Amino acid sequence: MELSNGVIAFFMFVLGCCIGSFLNSLIWRLPLAGRRITFRGRTGPLTLHWPPSHCPHCHAAVRWQHNIPVWSWLALRGRCADCPNPISIRYPLVELGTGLTFLGLYLAYFVTGWYGTAFAFPERGFVTLIVDLFMCGGLLAISAIDADWFEIPLVIPGLMALVALGSIFWGLQPRLPSLATTSYLGRFAAKFTIGGTVGSLVSIFWIYWRSPAPACGEQTALTSPPASGAGTDAAEVPTPRVHGRVGVILGITVLLVLLLIASWIFLSGKTASLFTLIAGLLLFLLGVLPTSGQPVETLAEEVFEETAVPSARLEMLKESLLLLPPLVLAVAAMAAPIPLPAAEWCQRLFGVLLGALLGGGIVWCARIGGTLAFGRVAMGMGDIYLMAAIGAVLGWPMVWIVFFLAPFLALAWAAVWKLMGRSNVLPYGPWLSVAAILILLLGPPITHWYRLQLFPPAPPHAAPLLAPPAGGSGG
Ligand SMILES: [Zn+2]
Repeated sequence: MELSNGVIAFFMFVLGCCIGSFLNSLIWRLPLAGRRITFRGRTGPLTLHWPPSHCPHCHAAVRWQHNIPVWSWLALRGRCADCPNPISIRYPLVELGTGLTFLGLYLAYFVTGWYGTAFAFPERGFVTLIVDLFMCGGLLAISAIDADWFEIPLVIPGLMALVALGSIFWGLQPRLPSLATTSYLGRFAAKFTIGGTVGSLVSIFWIYWRSPAPACGEQTALTSPPASGAGTDAAEVPTPRVHGRVGVILGITVLLVLLLIASWIFLSGKTASLFTLIAGLLLFLLGVLPTSGQPVETLAEEVFEETAVPSARLEMLKESLLLLPPLVLAVAAMAAPIPLPAAEWCQRLFGVLLGALLGGGIVWCARIGGTLAFGRVAMGMGDIYLMAAIGAVLGWPMVWIVFFLAPFLALAWAAVWKLMGRSNVLPYGPWLSVAAILILLLGPPITHWYRLQLFPPAPPHAAPLLAPPAGGSGG
């Protein structure tokens, strides 16, 4: 690795740890935002910046020298600086996990060549890196909030989709989705996208017109917070989740870090960068998924009961009517003579929108189909918005793989949990999120393989039917 690469890699790791520190704050504050609390004599709504970061036990403010990601927790030996109470190991794990995720992605794109030579820092692919890191940050926050509350705050997938849309003005980027309208099939797909997008907006407008803006995207309206039990006029500041078994978690963390170092010594750079990303995700999940404690199990049972409403099938039949506007308009648009500009940004726009339609559409169909089959609300509305945002960033060739990879990850984790004798009722958001981040690296080999099956190699002069995203074949 060249020196400049090493310096940027170190910067990426530190940046990730700092973003992780911000995520810690977001994970605690976002679901509680607006709740009236009393903190040191002042009563007001909880916001993203009030009350200031403080010890949950003695309410002492955290000083800047105790707010350095990962390091401060180690230096203070996991305890508050002002009282003998422990500070949850979730904080350093979220910071370290985010740091390694950012580092792994940078190394894979720019140093070890997951996408061949499509990336070259900083002139090629820098925008892709920013969009992807933004998605990673958003997905990690969603994973933690979904694990705590069984809800997905819609503002995060909304911002992810906006960043993906904003990136279309930077021209054709490596990996970011695009849809060439030069071929017959491409023009059909673009028209389908236009109709489907307009129809989806109609359906979303209808949902919000019928039941104005819930703050979070789950079907189940939770009335009580999981951790604190505080009411709406709480006199107490709600405390963040505390995890038990610090020793075991610390042991696993040290083992993972040692394995990570060994992978960079003994394995190829490509494999080691993938392992860096995986280690980051594992540490993050270890920090945020419940390892013990009553609240989440009570909450899980509550959600479980609420999703088993007797009228679930009937409600879902009504909801399936909302699929009609996008479907009808998409088919109508395919038959309509719509002029399609061939500008680069238009191709990128179609790529982003088609990915969002496909991502949201798969989950929506699974939600309706699953509920009709089992008589229990299968997936939350939040998962639909989440997958639409993932699709906007990943694009149509990769988003559907996320949907099929997620259950395997969830099952693997549940199996390990079962062996350890723990409850395995978990929300689905974290698995969709982690699968999406993994697909950033695992996607190219998979899409390359299935494209070869669908479109066997054509003579070299023939134009491909659907242009792959630039550099998407892994060189
Ligand atoms: Zn304290």
